[in-house]
Amino acid sequence: MIENGQATGVSYLHDGTPSTARARAEVVVSGGVYGSPQLLQLSGIGPGELLQDLGIETVHDLPAVGKHLQDHFFVRLAWRCAKPITMNELANSLPRQVMAMARYVLFKSGPLAANGVTAGAFARSDPRLERPDLQFNFTPWSYAARDRTGAVPHKFPGFSLSAVHLRPDARGTVHLKSPDPLAPPAIRFNFLQTPYDLQALTAGMRLARAFTRQSALAPYVTEEIVPGPNINTDAEFAASIRQTASSNLHPVGTCRMGPAGNPGGDTVVDARLRVHGIGRLRVADAAIMPTVPAGNTNAPSIMIGEKAADMMLAAARAGAI
Ligand SMILES: Cc1cc2nc3c(=O)[nH]c(=O)nc-3n(C[C@H](O)[C@H](O)[C@H](O)COP(=O)(O)OP(=O)(O)OC[C@H]3O[C@@H](n4cnc5c(N)ncnc54)[C@H](O)[C@@H]3O)c2cc1C
Repeated sequence: MIENGQATGVSYLHDGTPSTARARAEVVVSGGVYGSPQLLQLSGIGPGELLQDLGIETVHDLPAVGKHLQDHFFVRLAWRCAKPITMNELANSLPRQVMAMARYVLFKSGPLAANGVTAGAFARSDPRLERPDLQFNFTPWSYAARDRTGAVPHKFPGFSLSAVHLRPDARGTVHLKSPDPLAPPAIRFNFLQTPYDLQALTAGMRLARAFTRQSALAPYVTEEIVPGPNINTDAEFAASIRQTASSNLHPVGTCRMGPAGNPGGDTVVDARLRVHGIGRLRVADAAIMPTVPAGNTNAPSIMIGEKAADMMLAAARAGAI
């Protein structure tokens, strides 16, 4: 709800019943990278042309709302393991699962005490880069495919290494498809937008293979099963990446922070997370990150929430809101 250029509250559905809540001080949008731009656009704050096409009254024409979507993109490699020491054996055996559960309940130890990603590394896809642009996650399990219930583990011992591209060029969008607040928005990532995006993942796959040839790991490798030994040239890697790579679920950027009217750097919120052009309205979630961090996004998102709370309290104490 916006009156005279200021956010005054929210209207919402509770168990299907419409309701409203008025804000004494401020409204904070924390719907995440897809939900926050959706909520702003539904409220008339966003790209004027898009809102007009959908019949939504433009309260404030802010083109960056829903732009600059960025995410880590990753590709997975898997190997058959020479020893029966992986999580696949656990996933395929009820007695082992019962044992693992008992061990965890009694001693808080064993396979269920681990988080599933047991080793990691950061590396550069090109030695000329100043900082790492690849993250590797090692998991002591492997799977043949995903179905609706999740990953289906291989029947034999296996392990996986995923190569994650941390600094992709690709930028996408989150834009409303409909003025219906219950309809999902259109999410477009534009992954692999530049040659570098593809080259980085190709380098990541080659590096992952190199890791498994090291003397510490080599005794555990029987054969590569994903993508398999037939993938060797740049073109073969590219085809494999296009077919199998996916989001690493670290999206950011759709309400990004920066100075208002910054030429070329169109932004949504200022350094105190206040939405440009609208009073008493902030966004506090991963959507405000100007670029994706070269690491996981949960801790930075929590930091943004904590910092937003501090800034709002400071403003309230100073009588600024
Ligand atoms: C499967 C998965 C695994 C992940 N693993 C990791 C990991 O291991 N490490 C890591 O660092 N990061 C991980 N991430 C990323 C991390 O979870 C996110 O970066 C982080 O949660 C972002 O926080 P947020 O507050 O921006 O958004 P969210 O946590 O997505 O919170 C947004 C909330 O808003 C609600 N919402 C949206 N729209 C509306 C609406 N219209 N009305 C009411 N409510 C609404 C949503 O339901 C949600 O609860 C993972 C993400 C996923 C999906």
